[in-house]
Amino acid sequence: MIKCSYCGYEFNEKDTLKGCKTCPMTKVCNKYKCPNCGFHILKEPKIIKQLKKWVSKIGFKNKNR
Ligand SMILES: [Zn+2]
Repeated sequence: MIKCSYCGYEFNEKDTLKGCKTCPMTKVCNKYKCPNCGFHILKEPKIIKQLKKWVSKIGFKNKNR
């Protein structure tokens, strides 16, 4: 489930594909479109989440210098 950060509407990944079908950029588009309000939500791949964790760890170390 994806939750729209704008209106809070929850939807499945499949639902957002309907609105993107006509868009030629759909394969390279890195966003979900909220079927309720049309707000674009950035996809966050797992690797980015891991990267953020890693960066925050490193960031703390640097702050303590
Ligand atoms: Zn929305």
